[in-house]
Amino acid sequence: MKSNTVICGAGIAGIAAAYHLAVRHGVEDILLVDERAPLSLTSDKSTECYRNWWPDAPMVALMNRSIAILEELAEESGNIFHLNRRGYLYLTADPGKIPAFERDAQTPSGLGAGPLRVYRAERSDQRERSRSANSISTSAPLRSASARSAEYIPSPTEGYANLPAGADLFLDPALIRRRFPYLSEKVVAALHARRAGWFSAQQLGMYLLDQARSHGVKLVRARVTGIEQSQGRVSAVHLSDDSTIATPFFVNAAGPFVEEVGEMLGVDIPVFTELHLKVAFRDPLGVVPRQAPLLIWNDPQTLPWSEEERRFLAAEADTRWLLDEMPAGAHTRPEGGADSDIILLLWEYKHECEAHPTSNRPVIPPPLDDTYSEVALRGMAAMLPRFQEYFHRMPQPMLDGGYYTKTQENRPLIGPLPVEGAYIIGALSGFGLMSACAAGELLAAHITGSRLPPYAPAFSLDRYDDPDYRKLLADWHDAGQL
Ligand SMILES: Cc1cc2nc3c(=O)[nH]c(=O)nc-3n(C[C@H](O)[C@H](O)[C@H](O)COP(=O)(O)OP(=O)(O)OC[C@H]3O[C@@H](n4cnc5c(N)ncnc54)[C@H](O)[C@@H]3O)c2cc1C
Repeated sequence: MKSNTVICGAGIAGIAAAYHLAVRHGVEDILLVDERAPLSLTSDKSTECYRNWWPDAPMVALMNRSIAILEELAEESGNIFHLNRRGYLYLTADPGKIPAFERDAQTPSGLGAGPLRVYRAERSDQRERSRSANSISTSAPLRSASARSAEYIPSPTEGYANLPAGADLFLDPALIRRRFPYLSEKVVAALHARRAGWFSAQQLGMYLLDQARSHGVKLVRARVTGIEQSQGRVSAVHLSDDSTIATPFFVNAAGPFVEEVGEMLGVDIPVFTELHLKVAFRDPLGVVPRQAPLLIWNDPQTLPWSEEERRFLAAEADTRWLLDEMPAGAHTRPEGGADSDIILLLWEYKHECEAHPTSNRPVIPPPLDDTYSEVALRGMAAMLPRFQEYFHRMPQPMLDGGYYTKTQENRPLIGPLPVEGAYIIGALSGFGLMSACAAGELLAAHITGSRLPPYAPAFSLDRYDDPDYRKLLADWHDAGQL
């Protein structure tokens, strides 16, 4: 059997690569090989959120491009994958954090994520004057007290067009309460990133796959077991059904198994995997409003337990950690349309509290953790106090999870490998859905020899050959990953 290109992995990365090669470049004879059903390993476990709000210039550029393609695809498909533009709302209740919050907000803005609009508390004399002039409803536009020209435009529940980019930074607790009355009264700063929201990953993936298949891409259910080289270039791929496909091009899109597939080529892929869980609950009390953005708690916290619960947890060595301070980052969003009451909760608290079951050889299915649902639910009460109403009648949790496959600096790997004809699209960490459209486009540009965008070198494996880049990595901290 022969093929022009074999892509190993029908997750969102492999599918996006197949789409760009076949649909946008007209490459024929592509085989997409996966031992599982398409999108079923990691790509269907995602929270399905996207944002261009990153503290790293190439990531901002990649996401801006990816979101532009998402918008194009939404336009041409009648928004078949329900792209919205609700935004991400980052919150803190710590007045000491306000200067850092403000400073950090300027970084993505300065890197091309759009303007920052700041709304400060009015002084009392200004307040007196404006009180009689306007009474602000939660749906009306809101002017910044300091910058009279800036106007807050709330996010609509649905749709993605004609909305501001950048972010709105609220530094006035009274304004925050007026805009987001369901949040804790303790919130002192709120940053609403605007070129952000979520969509149905399954529907996006299937739309891309259907398009690719209608342009000749063939999906094969098998495991890639070996890759042959001849004179230093890819020549054939062996599959678990004993077939051998002669091919000059091979794409490693194996998600958490990119390292293992890299070994078949004799290439070291410098990644590690990190287990991330997610829980869905029904929210019959409507604690998370159906129109809410993605809500992110930026403060560390200790969980709210009763005195009796504290005594009980303190008594056992393996539960005592539940009384310790937990890291920032608990986040939640509503899932589904107006008739749904499902909410998603995520909080990567574990790696900071106890040894985490990570390894470079991910365990499938990923091990789930029985305490996760309750810890995540309790952690949300800092941000949304009405979560307390569920403490003693916890809704039935639906728990799942998957692996973030990451490089040290949390930039993806997209481009050629050091074997001619071999390429990678991987290490998509916690941003694989949001970046897939631009990642697939970039990979297809490498393979077809088309013009590369300026961000291409930042994602290529050979960046690690540059001694200056390696020096830079020594002080790399904030990757901006949730
Ligand atoms: C809890 C959680 C929340 C997340 N939230 C978000 C989010 O909000 N936004 C976002 O953008 N991203 C999010 N992500 C990240 C996103 O899901 C991933 O980055 C993305 O799914 C990775 O896609 P992939 O195609 O690289 O990998 P996968 O989806 O894992 O696909 C890889 C495929 O390769 C196949 N494969 C591997 N080895 C072989 C072989 N030898 N032969 C044949 N087939 C093989 C596998 O079977 C698999 O189907 C989240 C991830 C998790 C776990």
